[in-house]
Amino acid sequence: MISVDQAREKIANQIELLAVESVGLSSALGRVLAADIVSDCDSPPHDKSLMDGYAIVASGYRRGERLRVAEQVVAGQVPSQSIDRSSATRIMTGAPIPAGATCVVMVELSQVETIDGEEFVTLEADRVEEGQNILPRGCVMTAGETVIKRGSRISPAVVGLLAEVGYGQVEVFRQPTVAILSTGNELVDHWQQPGPGCIRNSNGPMIAASVRRAGGEPIELGISADDEASLRAAVKRGLACDILIMSGGVSAGVMDLTPQVLADCGVEEIFHKVNLKPGKPLWVGRIGERESATNEATLVFGLPGNPVSGFVCFELFVRFAIHAMAGQGSEYWQPTTAKLAKSFQQKTRRDTYFPARFVDGERTIVEPLGWKGSADLRTIAQADGLVFFPGEPREYELDTDVLVYPL
Ligand code: AMP
Ligand code: MG
Repeated sequence: MISVDQAREKIANQIELLAVESVGLSSALGRVLAADIVSDCDSPPHDKSLMDGYAIVASGYRRGERLRVAEQVVAGQVPSQSIDRSSATRIMTGAPIPAGATCVVMVELSQVETIDGEEFVTLEADRVEEGQNILPRGCVMTAGETVIKRGSRISPAVVGLLAEVGYGQVEVFRQPTVAILSTGNELVDHWQQPGPGCIRNSNGPMIAASVRRAGGEPIELGISADDEASLRAAVKRGLACDILIMSGGVSAGVMDLTPQVLADCGVEEIFHKVNLKPGKPLWVGRIGERESATNEATLVFGLPGNPVSGFVCFELFVRFAIHAMAGQGSEYWQPTTAKLAKSFQQKTRRDTYFPARFVDGERTIVEPLGWKGSADLRTIAQADGLVFFPGEPREYELDTDVLVYPL
């Protein structure tokens, strides 16, 4: 059986980048940049005051000295007077520093008086430093500099930065369309009351939510019964998407028809089964020409039906594929190290991802939860990470350092 890393590598070999499209800033959130972003301006565009106060010459300053107020400059205005040791400019936050000034003293340390119709200010700062309360022009970025790399996901802060450097439209990778098909004679929709022997379809909505979070566009195909004709019809619809996710029917039971139906539909198996717990029965395949100009290929994931197995396989493999197709790096899921809050017995030879909770705010101590296995969605819903236990039977004592993948 192949390892998680080998499985990821096989998936990576099948990935083709999606086409690039242009979107306006208001719909750019969550998309992945297809080109480097280059600033068209210096930021700040001028030496800029960080305070409301008085711009003065720092050298030779003495507390309590009285300076003539040359003018007042608010943000959006440009100074018209340069100043010297005997004068000061009243300046507001964001406004350009006048020529000659080398620092700004905050307004709270000033007192203004009018003598013979002229304004004077007395400053009460103990001492001042060159550059104090001034943000120098271009210290954040300069025109022509690359400020965000291709492959970055667009967050609200990135939207702000794009606006600052003048991008109203950005080039992004197309979002992958992801069809989701839940299989099983026992399944009913969540708004129905399950009859004897039946359960509600939890995987469909869960996988759709995971797809959305990963940056894909979910297309729910609903439930198919375990009969070949219905499965084939549903699979054919799903193969119009970039990715088809099927849940259920990939194990060894008599109703596990997924691999056969996919083969009948022309999907080529890339691998079946991974040395993983939960999630061993995972099936992955692909159909379509590589490098076709129209991105007609479809990557197919047959996730195990058990909800937690499907959830973990999604995090390990489907999210990886969605990110890779959309040009995002594979460093999407970094583990942190934490100490075990209680001992743990690793019994299996399969690499294990075990639901756990951090017990401290700093996320340095982690407690494996009382998880009842692949069908126990309730426990994973309370988990904030998956502890990784390599597939080697052993006892992990309290305080052992382990890797935790945050959820
Ligand atoms: P399967 O992989 O089809 O053999 O299913 C394994 C287990 O997962 C069985 O107990 C199924 O009832 C359950 N299961 C399969 N599909 C779903 C689903 N969509 N939602 C919830 N449970 C499911
Ligand atoms: Mg089934």
